[in-house]
Amino acid sequence: MTDRKKRIRRKRRKKEIKKIKRMVIAYSVRALAVMGLALMVILMICGCLYIYEHVFQKRNVQEANAYYGALAHVEGKDKETLSRAEARYTLVLDAGHGGNDGGTEEGSAVEKEINLAVALKMKELLEGEDIRVILTRDTDIYVGLDERVQLANKENADLFVSLHCNYYDKDSSVCGLECYYPKDSERGKYYGEKLIREMAERKNITPRNAKPGNYHILRNAQVPAVLVEMGYLSNYGERKELMSGEYQEKLAIELVNGILKGFQGT
Ligand SMILES: [Zn+2]
Repeated sequence: MTDRKKRIRRKRRKKEIKKIKRMVIAYSVRALAVMGLALMVILMICGCLYIYEHVFQKRNVQEANAYYGALAHVEGKDKETLSRAEARYTLVLDAGHGGNDGGTEEGSAVEKEINLAVALKMKELLEGEDIRVILTRDTDIYVGLDERVQLANKENADLFVSLHCNYYDKDSSVCGLECYYPKDSERGKYYGEKLIREMAERKNITPRNAKPGNYHILRNAQVPAVLVEMGYLSNYGERKELMSGEYQEKLAIELVNGILKGFQGT
């Protein structure tokens, strides 16, 4: 091969390498641009979901609480409905947790808020019945466990109902309402099973079961007591429902129905 031919070949190869380099750079820039765009879209979607979860959903729960809280104060019956003499039964209603004890939390769902919203709604529904309803708290304050159960004992309640929300991190598909009663308490068992049976019959709320539970307030209750785990915040669907005013109202209606039927022994 002559020197001239060699030079031409080298020149051609150099040109080809340059062309390939340019192509690689061009495609890389395009790929980076597409990836950047995709990332921006994902971040935007995440941002929107975050705002929706934390601002709107939380506001719904707060609004519901503010509404029911205001209602309780306007009517001037903060803690008690009827006097002992007027009422046939005494029900002590306990909205679990409160104040700096939020209970179980997931996303914008906070257990103490849901418990309080349902308790206030139940109190409202029970007005007009011959039942003295006493709340352990009607605002977002911390009340000790002993204080709660001693109130029920002191008032010699016919029934002490404590409202809570459940959480099960091992299986997020688990959902439904559960009742716990003190072991060796025939009356507690009766009310716990009554609530579950009524809900199973009416089918507005999905119940799981009633069983003995080893909770402080149950161990120390000298009156019939039931701790209601209204649903699982670890379950996406149930969490959304527990946060909605509509479902909280449904829960209140079903719990009140079960309690009334329990009192009446029907
Ligand atoms: Zn709880």
